[in-house]
Amino acid sequence: MKIRLEQIQSATLAVILAIGAAAALLIIALSVDLLISYTFFNKSSSNRYLAIAFDGTPMIASFDLKNITEEYRTLDGQLVSDGWKIHKLGSTLLRGPAWQLNNYRGLQWNKRIEKLSPTEWYFLHDGRLQGSGYFVGYSPETKFNIGYFGRAGFRPDEPPADDRFQMDGRKLLLGEIYNIQFSDDYSRVTSLYLLADDGLYKIDLDGHSVKLLLKGTNLVSAGIYHANVSVDNQPSADTNAHGLLVRTADQVLELDFNGKLLRSHLLPQELLNSDLLWYESSATNIMIQESPKHEELYWIDTGGKIVRQEHVDLQQESTKSLAMQTLEKVAVTIAMPSFGEVAACSAVDVWDQNMRKSVAYSVALRKTLGDTWEILLSTGIISICTACLCYRRQRNYGLPWTISWTVFVLVFGVPAYVGYLFHRSWPARLPCPSCGRLAPRDRSACFACGHEFPAPIPKGIEIIA
Ligand SMILES: [Zn+2]
Repeated sequence: MKIRLEQIQSATLAVILAIGAAAALLIIALSVDLLISYTFFNKSSSNRYLAIAFDGTPMIASFDLKNITEEYRTLDGQLVSDGWKIHKLGSTLLRGPAWQLNNYRGLQWNKRIEKLSPTEWYFLHDGRLQGSGYFVGYSPETKFNIGYFGRAGFRPDEPPADDRFQMDGRKLLLGEIYNIQFSDDYSRVTSLYLLADDGLYKIDLDGHSVKLLLKGTNLVSAGIYHANVSVDNQPSADTNAHGLLVRTADQVLELDFNGKLLRSHLLPQELLNSDLLWYESSATNIMIQESPKHEELYWIDTGGKIVRQEHVDLQQESTKSLAMQTLEKVAVTIAMPSFGEVAACSAVDVWDQNMRKSVAYSVALRKTLGDTWEILLSTGIISICTACLCYRRQRNYGLPWTISWTVFVLVFGVPAYVGYLFHRSWPARLPCPSCGRLAPRDRSACFACGHEFPAPIPKGIEIIA
């Protein structure tokens, strides 16, 4: 059979109606889901995270959202009373060299401007791989330009090419190219630190000067290090041992804010490529948390040997009640009463947020199927039922394209059936005078026996043109 324009039009109409129905169902289901979350809101959920006491003792803190309480336990499960009062050790993120492997395709203009909040200074890069950049400042009050910083220091005009900081464009993608130092009372930004291609620079905003603190073309990352972070996560001034950490290919160097080398630590071979969170409670007590795995803790000596390693379990406990899980599944079934949609989502979105991308697809798929089989089953049943209804209707009305319509409804379920139902009008069915079957009267002959229907008996009120 040739596909006519009319059929394409009606199929298109059905698809549009199906999409509309799917959207309406989604809105209903989202409302239901909101209601569920609201009703059952975290009756028993808790968040776990790592908190390091000032003396370097790791604790697992769990925050109970129901009772708004926080509980601290040591790694072996001992309860730490008043754990929230203990001063916590700050950490410094030291990126690994993985950014050097990034496939670089240049930068969009918005990526070339780094707002160094909360200062009025911006770092402006040309976006090139072997690129360069400079600082430009604007007064928050007057909005006027307040000057520039190039390698030679402060200047009122735009730094020329030879006064700009040479910087690999890939570093900008990290968003970690600079660090900000605050005044002791934490009210003002005093300095910026920039990791350029030729070393670590200090931009002294108060003194209007720029200094190359550490020369080196092999610096991987850098960060400001605050030993003591108080309860509210602000560096506290009382015992504020702090300085700069600079990571090279195989070492972490500690500098004071004037660039004087205080000490250096060799990194263990196992951690050379990872992003690291660095905790330092004393010169000899260094703990490293591997990022983004977050669950492996290493203690190293100054020779780069791992002297202790611990695994912590920070996975958020699955504490959703069975009722909530069931209701959520019902909500998903309402949102997507379509086997095809659910199956496609399950197959594509196999890595949930608790699972790392490193997990193989087949393993992740098996887990997803394990989590969603009830939804797949219920939507499967719904889709089969709607497909049967569609098939029966096609047969009852003697319509073409029965297989295509049935498959369409089987795959896309309820929304597709809604689309199918409303894409055309359904004429009355009356018994055929010849074979007796109910036949739709939108055509001149019976669809079952082919017998021509008799012309209606004239009533004398017909208009004959
Ligand atoms: Zn008939």
